[in-house]
Amino acid sequence: MNSTELIARAEKTHLLTEEELLHILTDAQADSLLFATADRVRKKYVGDEVHLRALIEFTNICKNQCLYCGLQYQNNKIKRYRLSGTEIISLAKKAVQYGYKTAVLQGGEDPFFTVDILVPIIRQIKKMGLALTLSIGERTTADYRAFKEAGADRFLLRIETTDKALYEKYNPGMIFENRLRCLHDLKNLGYEVGTGILVGLPGQPVESLAKDLLFFKELDADMIGLGPFIPNPDTPLKDAPAPQLTPALKVMALTRLLLPDINIPATTAMETIEPDGRLRALQSGANVVMPNVTEGDARKNYALYPGKACAGEDPAKCRRCLASKLALIGRPISTGYGFHRKKQSP
Ligand code: SAH
Repeated sequence: MNSTELIARAEKTHLLTEEELLHILTDAQADSLLFATADRVRKKYVGDEVHLRALIEFTNICKNQCLYCGLQYQNNKIKRYRLSGTEIISLAKKAVQYGYKTAVLQGGEDPFFTVDILVPIIRQIKKMGLALTLSIGERTTADYRAFKEAGADRFLLRIETTDKALYEKYNPGMIFENRLRCLHDLKNLGYEVGTGILVGLPGQPVESLAKDLLFFKELDADMIGLGPFIPNPDTPLKDAPAPQLTPALKVMALTRLLLPDINIPATTAMETIEPDGRLRALQSGANVVMPNVTEGDARKNYALYPGKACAGEDPAKCRRCLASKLALIGRPISTGYGFHRKKQSP
């Protein structure tokens, strides 16, 4: 079968083999058909509404040394910060005022935020009527359980790549199997689980992207967030080739074909490398945006990669800007929580 036939079949069956995924991934002729098909599948299964998730970047302190990431502890070029519980709660309150229904607490792996510190923060945020996502990296099963019992609804932990050798090369000291353990723990504890990858890491074979896609399906992920790898000048991968949007969009669109009813964000990394990259993503399978509500210096210093879109803006302006951009492409902002609703073909 050629790509056109494979894409047409996947629109109905939501199944593609590794070889078939590889065929589409390596066929540039298939791009526009793939994006249009993913857009139709998105509309059919999750509708036109866009769910907004307020991102609170509460610490840039990290004990890991992921070679691609600006937060790695060896990077002494960034100013480190850690928001207090009061500051985090105050940002969550503002998120409510902006009309967001979900808060996402994201940070480096900062040992300061023990269960005893985080649980009261989680409880307070839940009292505000927000859905809560955590994105704080690898923790013990007991920690994940404590956060769930305190009210956390969802957890975002990218596998980054399912190629074990590549994973362990770029995440020195980290063990691929432990990442899997975390994702399975989170599933078993009843979180909605988000994972995802970086697309375009140096030495990342295109075959591994096909395997990543099958992994998303096998894990039965509730959300998949992915984006282009953007070389950071303050990291060992500073000389990697310039990032490209299309490969990331292709993996995202294929994710929509395989997992038609999940939540898929148009990510900030996409917007960073191409103006209106997020809008293109929303028209190629995505149905979520995660606007940043972090303020002041913290917002500037959560520097995963250079030129992060909207890092110099203020949260209120971002909210207005997003509303007008979404209106331009005819996509209403959801007023619900946007939990993953498993659907049969409607
Ligand atoms: N400590 C948390 C949050 C990490 S930051 C965790 O481990 O889950 C969130 C995501 O940013 C990472 O999962 C990674 O995929 C992405 N990221 C990091 N550095 C990046 C870069 N240089 N370019 C693009 N994305 C990057």
